[in-house]
Amino acid sequence: MDPTRAIWIKDPLAIFADGAERGVVVKGGRIVELVAKGREPTTANPLTFDAGEHVVLPGLINTHHHLYQTLTRALPAALDRELFPWLQALYPVWARMTPESLELGVTVAMSELLLSGCTTTTDHHYVFPAGLEEAVDIEVAVANRLGMRVLLTRGSMNRSQRDGGLPPDSVVQDEDTILSDSELVVAKHHQRGADAMVQIALAPCSPFSVTTSLMRATAALAERLDVRLHTHLAETEDENRFCEQIHGCRPLDYLEQCGWLNARTWLAHGIFFNAAEMKRLGKARVSISHCACSNQILASGCCPVCEMEAAGVGIGLGVDGSASNDGSNLMQEVRAAFLLQRARYGVGKVSHKDALRWATKGSAACIGRPELGEIAVGKMADLALFKLDELRFSGHGDPIAALVLCGAHRADRVMVGGKWVVTDGAIPGLDIAGLIHRHGAAAKRMQAG
Ligand SMILES: [Zn+2]
Repeated sequence: MDPTRAIWIKDPLAIFADGAERGVVVKGGRIVELVAKGREPTTANPLTFDAGEHVVLPGLINTHHHLYQTLTRALPAALDRELFPWLQALYPVWARMTPESLELGVTVAMSELLLSGCTTTTDHHYVFPAGLEEAVDIEVAVANRLGMRVLLTRGSMNRSQRDGGLPPDSVVQDEDTILSDSELVVAKHHQRGADAMVQIALAPCSPFSVTTSLMRATAALAERLDVRLHTHLAETEDENRFCEQIHGCRPLDYLEQCGWLNARTWLAHGIFFNAAEMKRLGKARVSISHCACSNQILASGCCPVCEMEAAGVGIGLGVDGSASNDGSNLMQEVRAAFLLQRARYGVGKVSHKDALRWATKGSAACIGRPELGEIAVGKMADLALFKLDELRFSGHGDPIAALVLCGAHRADRVMVGGKWVVTDGAIPGLDIAGLIHRHGAAAKRMQAG
């Protein structure tokens, strides 16, 4: 296929866009034309892809994840535990991660995401045991190999049990090491511009694993380097209590004191904000990654997305770590968010289209990429195409509603920046059976200690 030639994705079964009934034309990595009903493309001589059996969505965007956690799914010691004891069961296992096991864990998670229709993922990597200093480099190499767009974070933890924090000493680093490596990683990998394939954000893990000094210094560094900021916040009641005990205030006050309350920041979870705090978040243009599956498995609670949106807070979706989900399937996460929020707010407030909007345009805003997440002229050509030929869809009416309501979980084709990275439900060149074998063996070694 000639990469400079325009491609007309022609006559889709359905498309999540207005005025594109006859499809879209992509060229040079972007969407250059929407073809309305009864029209022909004006772009000269495009290649044609017949999408008559496909439902076309903007590529889904995952705004919160810990890719390495595919190595510790459904770990017996962590089953049936809430966040803090769950973390305490897992930290010692994660401390045994090696460059080889991380590479396999990231490959599995990114492949799962791509096959679910996700074109851009974030990763919150904050575990840097000795020997794993090159973690971000490893992740960049995997993303490049798979052709996935990423916003990787240089995460951090520096408050261990010794200092009243939650993680053991073996998985934390000191502030100077973290800050100098953060600067290095941004200089090495962060691309600017609408077509960026790899970006870097800074991401201290959470208020209970990072010192105030590091929180402040990270915000200042992000400002100086002009990169985004991310952390977990307001995930559990335990966290509120911890924050009040240690810092004498609620998590959002603490965030503000650390210089984080600005449009550079997106937060994972955001379950326990009160009405006044939601207003402050909206005013500061902080956005929230809603992680419906993770919140249900850990019984953390439910992000109040409708109140958040009414307060002006942007909402995106995240599959969260593969040890608290335990999957990396973003299309299934759309359904989970739809079900959870509909149960909370009722039929009139939440539709399947809202859930799809959170996973696309909403997620794009979370990660500061307005050129993604929408099928419109000038946006990047990141698309997910689903077929409805499985048993689960048989008898469907509305094809877009069917994706969410009947439980779509696997894309047939995925395009990132105008290039097909998934075809016929598979990643070209990826030996899935071999990957599962090697990843499974690495996970077993890590879990056995
Ligand atoms: Zn998380």
